[in-house]
This record gives sequence, C-alpha cells and structure tokens, in this order.
Amino acid sequence: MCIFCKIINGEIPAKVVYEDEHVLAFLDINPRNKGHTLVVPKKHYERFDEMPDEELCNFIKGVKKTVEVLKKLGFDGYNIVNNNGRVAGQEVNHVHFHIIPRYEGDGEVVKFGEVKKIDLDEVLKEIKE
Ligand SMILES: [Zn+2]
Repeated sequence: MCIFCKIINGEIPAKVVYEDEHVLAFLDINPRNKGHTLVVPKKHYERFDEMPDEELCNFIKGVKKTVEVLKKLGFDGYNIVNNNGRVAGQEVNHVHFHIIPRYEGDGEVVKFGEVKKIDLDEVLKEIKE
C-alpha cells in the first residue's frame, strides 16, 4: 500500500486541512512555502489521466475547497502543481495536487525550466497525425 493510502487509512498521521467523501488534504511534510498542502483522491490512482471523469470532478472540487480553507493564511496567490511520472518529478505514485500558497516577496518557490527552441508547427503536426 502506498504512503498516501496509509495516510487515508489513518495508519500514518497527517496534518489534515480538509477532508470530504472523495478527497483528503494535508500539509506537505516538506513545505516549499507556508501552507503547502497536498490534496489526494481517497481512491488510489497513479496518474491524473487514469481517473474516471466523475471522480476527477469530485477531486477537483476538493482541490478548490482546500484553496478556500487555506485562504485563512492570507496568501496573495497560489500555485497548483501536479506531477505525473518520475520524469516529471512524481515521488509518490498516488495522484496528488500540490497547493502552494504564495506571498508577495516569497522568492523563487516554483519555477519552470528555461525556454527551449521548439518548432511548434512540428509539435502540432505530431499531435494531429
Ligand atoms: Zn495510494
């Protein structure tokens, strides 16, 4: 059983921010910023695109609810990050969204890599073929 399933089952304690029938949201033990929270569906799926539409809707609603709860922290903005696959930085193979509250002047908390020179027409061609 994966570590998030163990948290959901109560085998491992977590600092729960929000919970409903479909999702559990808890503070990340390695926070990138104050209030960094992970939202997980209660049913185990490895990747975002593997979730059935209806469960995905319930999950996304739970993500939004969690943002609303976190508003108490008085953040100025937030990032929502979801990594799929090891190459993308997914460390636990159970779908999870990071909600990372952002505060004015909090520095480089979440960053994209450098811009690459990529032929967009070629990419589109490959997708549409
Ligand atoms: Zn799991």
